[in-house]
Amino acid sequence: GKYGTQIDQKSRNEETQNLIDAINDMSVKLQTEEKQKRQITADVAHELRTPLSNLQGNLEAMLDGIWEPNQEKLLSCHEEIIRLASIVQQMQVLYSLENRNEQLECESIDFSVLCRSLSVDFAMKLEAKQIRLTVYAKKGDIVWGDRYKIRQCMINLISNAIQYSDVGGEIELHISNDDQYTTILVKDHGVGIPADELPNLFERFYRVDKSRSTKTGGMGIGLSITKAIVERHGGMISVESTPGKGSTFIMTFPQKSEK
Ligand code: ADP
Repeated sequence: GKYGTQIDQKSRNEETQNLIDAINDMSVKLQTEEKQKRQITADVAHELRTPLSNLQGNLEAMLDGIWEPNQEKLLSCHEEIIRLASIVQQMQVLYSLENRNEQLECESIDFSVLCRSLSVDFAMKLEAKQIRLTVYAKKGDIVWGDRYKIRQCMINLISNAIQYSDVGGEIELHISNDDQYTTILVKDHGVGIPADELPNLFERFYRVDKSRSTKTGGMGIGLSITKAIVERHGGMISVESTPGKGSTFIMTFPQKSEK
């Protein structure tokens, strides 16, 4: 169980030296995995602590008679419970994606049709901030993947684009195909992300501006789920961003192959 232990000896025999290198390499990898597991436990505990302690405080105040248990106070407790349930649910989604518990049901998805249906779903949110959503896709532009999961990726990226855009902004959805890959872009002209935050953006519970995100209710799981879905398809996700000018999230999916 002492991960990270290294064999110092060198061997003149090539096979033995390869074996030593392989064991040393494995030991480092096991140590890294163990650290990540601990970090996840710590992150989950941290995320659950705040809503739980708010809930405990509010309920105790009502039980002690300091607070009258009226509709408003009960509603606030209920909201915290919904937030907690949502964190747990999203963690479960992430867990099954990362552990490949679920089979993907891949099919050809017409991106323009998907975007039209998303525009309808987001109509109210877009209208509330007077944001224009423009789709640069024509009928027959196909992405190969699990319909429900690709839709989830788009929902996560569009919600963020709306959240981090100013009133009157614009969001663009693009698709392009080459011989092997389909590339989908979700581009906003919103607040943007500082360069030093970009490497951590896809980590679970990561938020650029904690206070801003807490106010807007973000939990920092959306992008981890999006990344896990894209990677589960054998694809990649990246981001380009300029603070004050906006961000572009780029998802690349392999096209349908015989394999
Ligand atoms: P959250 O639920 O906080 O939005 P995400 O995992 O979706 O969680 O995003 C993580 C963080 O990345 C957000 O809190 C925000 O700081 C930043 N972010 C994501 N998308 C954008 C965007 N389009 N523009 C600016 N910042 C963004």
